[in-house]
Amino acid sequence: MPRAYVGLGANLGPREATILRAVDLIAAVPGVEVLELSSLTETEPVGVTGQPDFLNGVLALETSLPARELLDALLGVERELGRVREEGERWGPRVIDLDLLLYGDEVVDEPGLTVPHPRLHERRFALEPLAELEPDLEIPGRGPVSVLLAELH
Ligand code: ATP
Ligand code: CA
Ligand code: CA
Repeated sequence: MPRAYVGLGANLGPREATILRAVDLIAAVPGVEVLELSSLTETEPVGVTGQPDFLNGVLALETSLPARELLDALLGVERELGRVREEGERWGPRVIDLDLLLYGDEVVDEPGLTVPHPRLHERRFALEPLAELEPDLEIPGRGPVSVLLAELH
């Protein structure tokens, strides 16, 4: 079964409880087997500042679902946890954000689904928890997680 990595982020409400609840809901998705959750760390918002700090982590899982069905399930969990997408409010505060960072070694670039996540390689808050789980992991087209992390400063 392909191994996938999900980035988890929250900066509104009870962040840790929401992230742990998201992990439970993901674990309950048919065809998904949760493997490991990284530690959760507090990070400053990137892009749109002036919003509360985030709690971020990464979840490793195995799944029999194709990448698109997995992403649909993640977006369903976001909705279930009360995520509301505001028109035109990109990178704003949110109770939960679930990004499909990697899906095996697949490279997909279609409307609504880009894997690896297009900004993964430049985001410390995603690379650090990923390196904690799997430092030697290769990001297709970019290189090993530990090298990408070392290149950030
Ligand atoms: P960023 O993508 O920079 O982390 P974001 O998480 O705030 O920003 P969202 O508003 O949560 O962006 O997502 C916008 C859309 O991106 C989603 O509706 C989803 O369909 C699409 N999308 C495409 N590829 C992915 C992916 N790998 N993971 C999550 N969403 C994706
Ligand atoms: Ca995101
Ligand atoms: Ca997202």
